Amino acid sequence: MQLPIYMDCHATTPVDPRVLEKMLPFFCEHFGNASSRTHSFGWVAEEAVDTARQQVASLLGAASREVVFTAGATESLHIALHGIAAARKQQGRHIITTNIEHKAVLETLELLRQDGCEITHVPVSPDGVVAVEDVEKAMRPDTILLAVMAANNEIGTLQPLKQLGQLARRREVTFLVDAAQAIGKIPLSVDDCAIDLLTLSAHKLYGPKGVGGLYVRRRVRLAIADAGGGQERGLRAGTLNVPGIVGLGAACEIAAAEMPEESQRVGALRNTLLHGLESRLEDITINGSMEKRLAGNLNVSFSGVQGESLLMQLNDIAVSPGAACDSANSEPSHVLRALGVSDDLARSSIRFGLGRFNTAEEVDYVVDKVVDAVTRLRKVSPLYEA
Ligand SMILES: *Cc1c(COP(=O)(O)O)cnc(C)c1O
Repeated sequence: MQLPIYMDCHATTPVDPRVLEKMLPFFCEHFGNASSRTHSFGWVAEEAVDTARQQVASLLGAASREVVFTAGATESLHIALHGIAAARKQQGRHIITTNIEHKAVLETLELLRQDGCEITHVPVSPDGVVAVEDVEKAMRPDTILLAVMAANNEIGTLQPLKQLGQLARRREVTFLVDAAQAIGKIPLSVDDCAIDLLTLSAHKLYGPKGVGGLYVRRRVRLAIADAGGGQERGLRAGTLNVPGIVGLGAACEIAAAEMPEESQRVGALRNTLLHGLESRLEDITINGSMEKRLAGNLNVSFSGVQGESLLMQLNDIAVSPGAACDSANSEPSHVLRALGVSDDLARSSIRFGLGRFNTAEEVDYVVDKVVDAVTRLRKVSPLYEA
């Protein structure tokens, strides 16, 4: 076993060596510009991009022409949110979302609000799942967009996409799904869930950083804001990142083939971690539903312990504090707040993100180390009375 142990797969994942192998020829050998139409360098690059588009589309149950390549999920979300707000302006300016979305959604919606849109943030229940009835109650005649994440990046909870999609379609509301954490981890079909727009990111599914995708359903029109080269149907101008796109495609192909077995294996490791902690520590709380949850996620509060102090004790384990959205920010997480977790308990939380390359041996090591650290910190904690 090698130290440090990586257990922060919601932040990013390592590139799968099989993905890297597929990417390598597209740096020095097949380096053509996919837009070059007059020579074989361009044709080879274009063909590789077409293959990747097919691989991404196939994982989503989409057609390849519905897939647009971008620089990541954040950019995909910007294109989708601004694109719908502008394209459907005549029909209304009301947008519905939840209170546990990623900052890429919440902050973009804040910009749209300053620009005249009205945003409703539907609260999730204490288990981190939004109730379809609450979303339905929030709908108005001028609602144009429903933006809901498939899986949460902090607590891993899964939202009822199928019912939300049916509701949105019935009301002629565009349905956008931020699927950065879900793609390749759970089966997700854009037709089954009536999804109009979906965003994904390669580096969350064992592909490279700085490349992502945006699914745009055939009839759905987005206002085009990107001028420059006409690539990606004008939605995302600029020379295509061919090696990155090849990597995203390969990552999707591997995920499609291995998802059932992998989610079982990762889920079993996560459960070993959970049971190890629960059987040896008192007063721990799991944040978010255990049933409607990504296989690799565990978000735990260790009452009486400062998350920061705990992380310092876990110096050879890479995990994230559950409380801070980013390390520069000491505000308790908006997600844990949305569940009704107190600020104190939120500050005692750790997010574990297990993935493809974690082993049973690593999980055992992590359990021992966390149990030791929590026990030691609680002994000296004025906040904790056993
Ligand atoms: C990581 C993440 C994003 C942003 O993706 P990038 O490709 O890193 O820009 C958006 N939403 C969720 C839920 C994420 O986990």
